[in-house]
Amino acid sequence: MDDIRGMVLLLPGLQLLIDVLRESGWTVRGPTVRDGVVVHAEIESVDQLPAGVGDLQDGASYRLRERGDGAVFGYVVGPQGWKSLLFPSRELLWSGHRTGTEVDVEPADVDAPRLALLGVRSCDLHALEIHDTVLAKRAVPDAAYLSRRENTFIIAVTCSDPGGTCFCVSMGTGPVPDKDFDLTLTELVDQEGHRFLVQPGSDRGEHVLDELMTRAVGDEVLNAARTDRCAAALVGSKAAQRMGRSLDTDGLRDLLYANAEHPRWDDVASRCLACTNCTLVCPTCFCTSVEDVSDLSGTQTERWRVWDSCFTNDFSYLHGGSVRPSVRSRYRQWATHKLASWVDQFGTSGCVGCGRCITWCPAAIDITAEVGAIRSGEG
Ligand code: SF4
Ligand code: SF4
Repeated sequence: MDDIRGMVLLLPGLQLLIDVLRESGWTVRGPTVRDGVVVHAEIESVDQLPAGVGDLQDGASYRLRERGDGAVFGYVVGPQGWKSLLFPSRELLWSGHRTGTEVDVEPADVDAPRLALLGVRSCDLHALEIHDTVLAKRAVPDAAYLSRRENTFIIAVTCSDPGGTCFCVSMGTGPVPDKDFDLTLTELVDQEGHRFLVQPGSDRGEHVLDELMTRAVGDEVLNAARTDRCAAALVGSKAAQRMGRSLDTDGLRDLLYANAEHPRWDDVASRCLACTNCTLVCPTCFCTSVEDVSDLSGTQTERWRVWDSCFTNDFSYLHGGSVRPSVRSRYRQWATHKLASWVDQFGTSGCVGCGRCITWCPAAIDITAEVGAIRSGEG
């Protein structure tokens, strides 16, 4: 190895990384193909990874494609962020049991398995940072989120082939992971072969790297060469030049605040189905509601927290009516919160440029196009 911390693994070496993590008590969650989509699942073997799979993404359009090169991280992001693992769509908060006139209330146990997240993209790292701010760094932290987050080991991956709806460069969130990971991988597929440059980002990552350096032999590892580091740096810089979308963020907060009555909100409302897809796939959306359920005898009751969406009529229901009864007001609320009031509330944009809301909107509504139209004065 040379003097820069890191090593180069071959595909069997990636299997060794998975084995080392599993032996250390981590359940590895990573990408796999199911029903024509890249989703997360428990990964025990590199054979489960999406080898040679790329994706084609555009407004309301997602298709897998054959890359023909065997790359296992050659796709972009699927519909799932990682939020469903740390901030489940449905979570029991407490349960109550009535005996006569007495009611015992029990807080729910927190399920916080040790998860190693394999293949986290830079945009999603920034989304996790946003959730840390929103959920863990507030006056009363979300204890369940905090427990899960502390039990998370992150293996980030540099994006090599951005999707048609990606705009992380505009948002300053990618495509190269720059912080908040334990290990980062850069996949290289070129005339030198198929390999992964692995570099640490934390003490835990250093420890796993040490273990790999001790154990990797034969066809699992290559001597890390400076040419590998140069090739890895090129992966990120080339990806940055091939974003499918862009968003001009200059003065964006003030632009949106100044255009609350812009006619483009009527235009987008005529297309928006208020289906909530954009909020469900968004890795930073965090709004919830609570549901109370009881058994028929009235002795057992439970309170559940469930994901909600600002696109539903009920979400803004207050004492007799909805504050945002029109689709126009709901889309405007969503986009303006993401790109303007989020900055006032949490200090950053609420959008990381992952493009999911564009790909998975059945009406192909594109937040970059809507904001672009407002900026250019289009109706
Ligand atoms: S913008 Fe698209 S995804 Fe979002 S609610 Fe409207 S139709 Fe659904
Ligand atoms: S608003 Fe859209 S592009 Fe931005 S983080 Fe959410 S899903 Fe990704």
